[in-house]
Amino acid sequence: MIVYHTIERKRDGEELSPEEIAAFFGAYAEERLPDYQMAAFLMAVYFRGLSRRELAALVDVMLHSGVVVDLTSVPGVKVDKHSTGGVGDKVSLVLAPLVASLGVPVPMMAGRGLGHTGGTLDKLESIPGFRTDLTLDEFRAQLERIGCAIMGQSAEIVPLDRRLYALRDVTGTVESIPLIASSIMSKKLAEGADALVLDIKRGSGAFLPELDRALELAETMVGIGAEHGREVVALLTAMDRPLGYAVGNALEAEEAILALQGEGPEDLREVTLALATEMLVLAGVATDAAAARAAAAGALDDGRALRCMEHVIEAQGGNPAVLEDPAILPQAPVQRVFTSPRDGTVTTVEPRAIGEAAVALGAGRTALGAPIDPAVGFHITAEPGDRVAAGEPLATVHARTEADAELGVAALARAVRISGEDADAAPLPLISHRVTTEGVEVWTARP
Ligand code: URA
Repeated sequence: MIVYHTIERKRDGEELSPEEIAAFFGAYAEERLPDYQMAAFLMAVYFRGLSRRELAALVDVMLHSGVVVDLTSVPGVKVDKHSTGGVGDKVSLVLAPLVASLGVPVPMMAGRGLGHTGGTLDKLESIPGFRTDLTLDEFRAQLERIGCAIMGQSAEIVPLDRRLYALRDVTGTVESIPLIASSIMSKKLAEGADALVLDIKRGSGAFLPELDRALELAETMVGIGAEHGREVVALLTAMDRPLGYAVGNALEAEEAILALQGEGPEDLREVTLALATEMLVLAGVATDAAAARAAAAGALDDGRALRCMEHVIEAQGGNPAVLEDPAILPQAPVQRVFTSPRDGTVTTVEPRAIGEAAVALGAGRTALGAPIDPAVGFHITAEPGDRVAAGEPLATVHARTEADAELGVAALARAVRISGEDADAAPLPLISHRVTTEGVEVWTARP
């Protein structure tokens, strides 16, 4: 293989053979191909895309670059969920124990914050003592024992993605449908789940804000699942405003606990129940969507989901008392209330600005492996469409210092837009589409 010929052919829009894809990425995996040539190739893929055949070949090399976990010792249909990333998205902390409490094993390999978006592992680690660095044996044993385990992607799972992701992150090649789809799906296929539910975010806070791109990503991932014998259902959900009120790791863990107690914000509950419904139907434990949704709502309201979370926290070394007393979570020393500058209607709560500001406060990383502050972030109660009066509290900044609190208030002033006139806020529908191998359906609310 002459490497630069392969790069040139992709640059010029030619289709590569599966053997060429395997040879090119295989050489990179074995460190026989330098980062600069891979970076050029990734940029060519960013502009030219990949054919179905090329994508299948890429998923295959990535999947087999590491261990493929065998969970056949765990009885039942194992179902996981993955989100493409959002601001305030703490759904996994509620959903995983909820679905497991209804008898469906949930093997969840989750991620850390990425760019302006938060990560499940960082949120869970805000619970004192909680460990996400389980070994694969611990992961499997916990799944057998309590039906739910949540760990970070170990070094053995799709090691090629780690290197490609780090390179994409610094070469402007993250926002590519085939690269996102192969990155997520190779990891999900490697973790051993039988079926998968995807939460594809769209709107200004998502990696792919436009509807047509989000739908294409959903169809691509559903297609990869089908080629590997996994049923995958994707829901498109709104990320043109944060999900729930809390943004920041401990604040989001606290809100997830409220949701597990049946008291969380309505949008968080709605997205969680919609995804749980799909997971329960895929696992075959509910006859139809209506029965699945009723079962999931019941387990949230009667404490079964909360009890399952208690077992997960105990099993992973965390302090389960946090479920009774969220004040155990780290608390930021400075809290500053943001009030409405005028009478009017909230037209926008811009999630990307909020997510970036949360990172600036210390909730996320600006360098690989940098420490984060679990306590900082925002609690924003203003929602698009709300009528507000001048001086009314709309949000609270949780910060390390007075200067950081000022930064947070300035970010809120940019992100929370208020029209002085009677204005129509037109937020995206919370859930807009459902994508399966049968095609794309416009979402209609379930009973
Ligand atoms: N999450 C991933 O794991 N990979 C991507 O490419 C984007 C989001």
